[in-house]
Amino acid sequence: MRRSVDEILQIAEDLKRMGFSCRFCPRECKVDRSRGERGFCGAGWLPSISGATRHFGEEPPLVGAGGAGTIFFTNCNLQCVFCQNHQISRGLMGSEFSIYELAREMIRLQDEGSLNIEPVSPTHQVHAFVEALGLAWSKGLVLPTVYNCGGYESLEVIKLLDGVVDLYLPDLKYADNEAASKYSNCSDYVEHARVAIQEMYRQVGDLELDELGVATKGLIIRHLVLPDNASGTIETLQWIKRNLSTEVAISLMAQYSPLFEAHKFDELNRRINREEYDRMIDECWELGFENVFVQDFESQDVGIPDFREKEPFNWDIGG
Ligand code: SF4
Repeated sequence: MRRSVDEILQIAEDLKRMGFSCRFCPRECKVDRSRGERGFCGAGWLPSISGATRHFGEEPPLVGAGGAGTIFFTNCNLQCVFCQNHQISRGLMGSEFSIYELAREMIRLQDEGSLNIEPVSPTHQVHAFVEALGLAWSKGLVLPTVYNCGGYESLEVIKLLDGVVDLYLPDLKYADNEAASKYSNCSDYVEHARVAIQEMYRQVGDLELDELGVATKGLIIRHLVLPDNASGTIETLQWIKRNLSTEVAISLMAQYSPLFEAHKFDELNRRINREEYDRMIDECWELGFENVFVQDFESQDVGIPDFREKEPFNWDIGG
């Protein structure tokens, strides 16, 4: 059940206390973010935002006619060598927003017709996001919240988000830490992502749609297929089946492109081919998954976001 405004503001206070010795993610840098100290992610205390816009490239139930109300946070607690958002996750394009300004952006997105409020990579600014959300709720925001994160989450934080987040949209990037360490500078990704996603599923369950096909609640797990199964796609699907359910909605993404620093790794220095992607789709069906979002393979050729543009995206995810 959704929290009250008083409750969400209290959760924001609890989160802020965690930021005084930062444990917003499993890296547990324990720096005092409120005093300007910066940890692995490099984030400050107030959020840096690189864009707040209606986005039509998400999974169809998140988009509908009005678009997803995406808010892109600068910085990241992962360092993926192939990051398609590297301009903001590593290049640090963005402007600092006050809590009030962030809440106002949420209300604006609602007024413009967005279907939801979707923070993108909010993990390292979860305290600010939740406080702004509480403020926006008090000013009439009613849209569902879609928590779009990289999967490397603190279980303690995710537990605090119970009743705050309506839909979770985490990545589950890898099935082994060797790959996570090599490609995302994260040597304990798998265990933390898996336990966090189990908690997300406990909170919100399977994807629920309203009569118009719009997502109102639930979990969608995103998985980007890397060349040569470097992301451990089959093992990841098997884990989801064993530990969650085959009812879980999965977004199997084909859009990998050797961006940013991926060219430094021979095995990542190409796009996936149609055969590789089709094989992973077949695995989904064979394992019994029925709620799978697949991408038009041609989407590989369109649209790498450019955050210097007013509208950074031009690609779609098919259902
Ligand atoms: S959010 Fe940033 S500073 Fe905090 S623990 Fe994670 S990487 Fe470290």
